[in-house]
Amino acid sequence: MPAHTDGLRHDWTKEEVEALIALPFPELMFRAQETHRQHFDPTKVQISTLLSIKTGGCPEDCAYCPQSARHGNGVKAERLMAVEAVMKEARAAKAAGAGRFCMGAAWRSPKERDMEQVCAMIEGVKSLGLETCVTLGMLDSDQTSRLKEAGLDYYNHNLDTSEEFYGAIITTRSYQERLDTLANVRDAGINVCCGGIVGMGEDLSDRASLLMTLANLPKHPESVPINLLVRVEGTPLSTAEEVDPITFIRIIAAARIMMPKSHVRLAAGRENMTDEAHALAFLAGANSIFCGEKLLTTPNPAEHRDRQLLSTLGMTPMVQHESEMGSKRPAVPEHATAEHNCSKQVEAVS
Ligand code: SF4
Repeated sequence: MPAHTDGLRHDWTKEEVEALIALPFPELMFRAQETHRQHFDPTKVQISTLLSIKTGGCPEDCAYCPQSARHGNGVKAERLMAVEAVMKEARAAKAAGAGRFCMGAAWRSPKERDMEQVCAMIEGVKSLGLETCVTLGMLDSDQTSRLKEAGLDYYNHNLDTSEEFYGAIITTRSYQERLDTLANVRDAGINVCCGGIVGMGEDLSDRASLLMTLANLPKHPESVPINLLVRVEGTPLSTAEEVDPITFIRIIAAARIMMPKSHVRLAAGRENMTDEAHALAFLAGANSIFCGEKLLTTPNPAEHRDRQLLSTLGMTPMVQHESEMGSKRPAVPEHATAEHNCSKQVEAVS
């Protein structure tokens, strides 16, 4: 197989990816597991803790999102949280064992006054010894440099779907603008968190195209959130056709095979997934979850359910040093990983 200088492939064709997704299920799962075990301990799951620092009233028109001000009964707009209020949440997360604290804002892009406040949040959270992640919408190179200076470790900005299908989902920002933001994030030396959503009416070709675009980026995103659409009443996608779990698991497995060293995250949509579907997703190579009873506005499994699920599966949360990209480390003592925190979450869908 052709390889890039990082030893990973960045030259996938859509036909190849379609064929990969459509492999006989046992073959696809075997290949995904093989890949996963080369780079990660398959018993470990990274737990992501997020806080919505600015909810609702977003000017963008993402058809899946209840935070868009353009959808009839969208979420009520709130102001950007005060720095101290964010610090209180971050301290609580740290006390409960969180290693990374992610903050999401429903913006097209941050304004100057917002940047100052968000940078103060990043500096504060960082000073607690937590990794930092934000999702703020589109960024220019000046903004990414400032976030980097403030200590930002990760930036989330999803492609959502294929370039071909994108116009059916979002009209207020272009696919290229998303790619430009991702390039600015990379250029600033910030880790990239970027994935998409399954179940918005896209077909196999679109799913293959999304994965191809992600894997063919100059560097694979360190985190690849794969969301299952949460059909929220009042949004244009509230009646989208449901995707069966096996179809969803196939996308997880293909993502794992194509981006072997990335954390593939089971993001939105877990609330309605059975324990068995979760188990299959982990077997397919998912090794990160959002945890907490609420995403931005949609439900997520309760913390106790996740803890019970991991316990049933004999899996444990990753500790911070294990959450580096593609890091396969020796197992750490059980007692060191058994505690984890789940606090208020946001969908990583900006
Ligand atoms: S997904 Fe993000 S950018 Fe799109 S409407 Fe929702 S908050 Fe705004």
